[in-house]
Amino acid sequence: MSTRYDLHAHSTASDGTLSPAELMQHAHAAGVQVMALTDHDTLEGIPEAAATAESLGLGFVPGVEISVTWNGGTVHVVGLGVDPGHEEILQGLAGMRDFRNWRAQEIGNRLAKAGIAGMFERALALSNGRLVSRTHFARALVEAGYADSVRAVFKNYLVNGKPGFVPGQWAELATAVAWISGAGGQAVIAHPARYKMTRSKLRKLMGEFVDAGGVGLEVVSGSHSRDESFAMAAHARDLGLLASAGSDYHGPENPWVELGRLPELPAGCEPIWRDWAA
Ligand code: AMP
Ligand code: MN
Ligand code: MN
Ligand code: MN
Repeated sequence: MSTRYDLHAHSTASDGTLSPAELMQHAHAAGVQVMALTDHDTLEGIPEAAATAESLGLGFVPGVEISVTWNGGTVHVVGLGVDPGHEEILQGLAGMRDFRNWRAQEIGNRLAKAGIAGMFERALALSNGRLVSRTHFARALVEAGYADSVRAVFKNYLVNGKPGFVPGQWAELATAVAWISGAGGQAVIAHPARYKMTRSKLRKLMGEFVDAGGVGLEVVSGSHSRDESFAMAAHARDLGLLASAGSDYHGPENPWVELGRLPELPAGCEPIWRDWAA
């Protein structure tokens, strides 16, 4: 186990349940030494997280997790070390949040047609006027008694073929990588073993990612089994990608994922923090 680096986590600026400050306090208390904030499609939590981390003496990495449409599906690209004031990424992410707002209304309309009314308003209220995600819909449906877990809502309402599904129209892979690189960050493919892709599709994704300037692969993830981490470590070695590690923490409601409680990188990986200043 290692608690040193945790390079993937969410706050209330996207679909986490702890504020950016609370997330940093929690990371510090858990023994993390370097913590990233990687909210979905927004940099808005970064100033608060950075200030809190500094006051605690906790290492902080300003990050983001960008939604990407690739080959008809959604993949996530984490950016680490991005400048939160960089104009191009800020504008790009603002456009993605416009799509999220439109999609939220559309999800609400589709659920209403299926007999489940009022969910747009409830999801919006749960997002506190910040970024709205399917996670907020999932929490709203659980609160309204339509399912007994967030996981069950996704399965029965929010994925392809279900009443509240709206296809993503996210950033292109090369665009997301360019935003991250342009803002001085390192682009990393998030939780690569989570995508329902064949090995050859996954390698195609990784190849295009490298061609676009991507440098890292999330080898260790809160959502990877140990075998999946070893498989991803082999891809990283083959392609010369740096290895990242992150919990993908969303809050204490998911007790099976804890901040910083991650296995070590498999042998032979080059850590993405290799060249970071101490
Ligand atoms: P969105 O970016 O708004 O489409 O929402 C994606 C988010 O929903 C992911 O980052 C996860 O936090 C969450 N999510 C996706 N699939 C599931 C699932 N099957 N169970 C629980 N949460 C999920
Ligand atoms: Mn999420
Ligand atoms: Mn993700
Ligand atoms: Mn995530």
